[in-house]
Amino acid sequence: MEKQQFKAESKRLLDLMINSIYTHQEIFLREIVSNASDAIDKLAYLSLTDQNVGLSRSDFAIRIETDAENKLLTVSDNGIGMSREEMEENLGTIAKSGSLQFKQDMDEKSKEDVDIIGQFGVGFYSAFMVAEAVTVISRKYGSEEAWMWQSSGADGYTLTACEKDAPGTDVIMKLKADTEDEKYGRFLEEYELRSLIKKYSDYIRYPIKMEVEKRRATEETKDSDKPEFETYTEVETLNSMVPLWQRSKQDVTAEEYNQFYKDKFYDFEDPVASLHLSVEGTVEYKALLYVPARAPYDYYTKDFKRGLQLYSSGVMIMENCADLLPEHFRFVKGVVDSQDLSLNISRELLQHDRQLKFIAQNLEKRIKSELEKLQKDDREKYEKFFASFGRQLKYSLASGYGAHQDTLQDLMLFWSRSQDKLVTLREYADAMPEGQEKIYFAAGESRDRLNRLPQMDLLQDKGYDVLLFTEDVDEFIPQTLRQYDGHDFQNIASGDLGLSSDDEKKDIEQKTEAAKPTLDFVKETLGEAVKEVRLSAELGGHPVCMKPEEGMSFEMEKYFQRMSPEMPAMKSGRILELNPAHPVFEALQLAVAQDQEKAKKYCQILHAQALLMADLPLEDPTAYTDLICSFLN
Ligand code: ADP
Repeated sequence: MEKQQFKAESKRLLDLMINSIYTHQEIFLREIVSNASDAIDKLAYLSLTDQNVGLSRSDFAIRIETDAENKLLTVSDNGIGMSREEMEENLGTIAKSGSLQFKQDMDEKSKEDVDIIGQFGVGFYSAFMVAEAVTVISRKYGSEEAWMWQSSGADGYTLTACEKDAPGTDVIMKLKADTEDEKYGRFLEEYELRSLIKKYSDYIRYPIKMEVEKRRATEETKDSDKPEFETYTEVETLNSMVPLWQRSKQDVTAEEYNQFYKDKFYDFEDPVASLHLSVEGTVEYKALLYVPARAPYDYYTKDFKRGLQLYSSGVMIMENCADLLPEHFRFVKGVVDSQDLSLNISRELLQHDRQLKFIAQNLEKRIKSELEKLQKDDREKYEKFFASFGRQLKYSLASGYGAHQDTLQDLMLFWSRSQDKLVTLREYADAMPEGQEKIYFAAGESRDRLNRLPQMDLLQDKGYDVLLFTEDVDEFIPQTLRQYDGHDFQNIASGDLGLSSDDEKKDIEQKTEAAKPTLDFVKETLGEAVKEVRLSAELGGHPVCMKPEEGMSFEMEKYFQRMSPEMPAMKSGRILELNPAHPVFEALQLAVAQDQEKAKKYCQILHAQALLMADLPLEDPTAYTDLICSFLN
């Protein structure tokens, strides 16, 4: 029989497994057992609607057998089985989606001792950490044929037809010879297998059965004072079969919650929060939800599927039930189990199921309050979470046009200039001093840059904090919310900051009146480049500033341009503000009166400087440079 080659990526992975980059080799058993359990899940699901399956829930089991003489460890299941094509597809290639990323991550992380196995669906291959050869015999439910897949590692595999009485799969591992460091033989010992199953697979919902040796007093001597003992064998179920979410909260340790998450959802990091719910009432359900610490590698791609695993009375009916989670909490992972859901319901009907909707609404509320709790009790963890998923929360808030405002607004964090850390809107509002009406923010590409905005000093003098927005999406938040806690949002780079007193306003009005010839001159000189030229008392120590007309800010203008560069540019009108208290303004006025050629040059320079400060492009940087230089000689 000719050997088939593994696909290139699988080969590399196999090499890694065989040369055992991972120190916890024992987890191979967990991987093989959980594959068996998944396979049974599939047939159990089928049996709900297909009478021909002929098995009921209690018939399903996983069996472990050992053959010490030949060093064989076998894990069998009576699940769905695999056809020839499926064996080729599933066992001949590592799971397609994560494979590339896996390779990259592997290189970086193999130095650390992290649980990467299983993370990208490489579970089956872990058998090669402990076995020199693996045989898989499988018969697909509904087929009479059985096939045998055999491989002793990286040189390929063979597939041959064989016999098998019933549907299901046997995975037969020929253990490696013991070495000085590693005693592979221990995986044949009852004690070892028993404790590994307890440790990693206790909650598997089907019995994991093994023939175990026991001792008892012999029949003849059992009533005597000195009984004689004999050994006998008995099939025992090694796991307790109670899924974690069915256990009572008090009986589960934080460690167990985290381990379950990592095993089930292929993460190598502990989640930042876990939530165990047992809800009684109109609709009863149990749920175990997790907030991951980091976004999975495919999170921002279309491959990512949001959803929770859905069980009905212990039978998994859906791997990824999207309807259980709102889009804005799509990062949540977990399991929901409810007896109130009809088992036979089709997936299409499930979408409209009243009970399901009820559960989903409840979960959304619980997730929200869990995140708020985390925000309050463990800010560091919350910030870690927010670094991973904050951007997505912001997009959800902005794209829903305020539909999810109540759920999401208090989950946001923004950088506070005064406090030099991330704060919530609530915290910002609570810290507002007497007299501050608005929530001030500035948007731009970096905090450094924003700190240098001309308006900053003025706000600082007043003791008003400014939120620094450095992500594209940030500026859409005030647009969506309009107000928070009764306070308007104010972009410090546009419009009236509302900082001047009535006297100051009057003063500016008078000065404007007096400076009319100068202002007109500037407007005339700059022509269409500016919409308006005016005086402002809000420029602190700076001579000029560019402000957008009411409506779109400059940052938005830049954002839209970045998003669709091919579209005709949308521009907000430019308003040039001059600071009448600055000596430059005096010089300008003097020039307008005495030397209009020079005054025109001043106008050009001030205009260009205002553009530069707003991080807007100059139309002709060379002309500007020449102009400046003409003053230098
Ligand atoms: P994963 O389980 O993460 O998908 P594995 O490498 O462990 O990745 O397994 C690959 C695939 O092989 C599984 O998705 C499943 O389709 C199939 N498979 C593995 N073991 C069994 C089994 N005991 N019965 C049926 N199919 C199996």
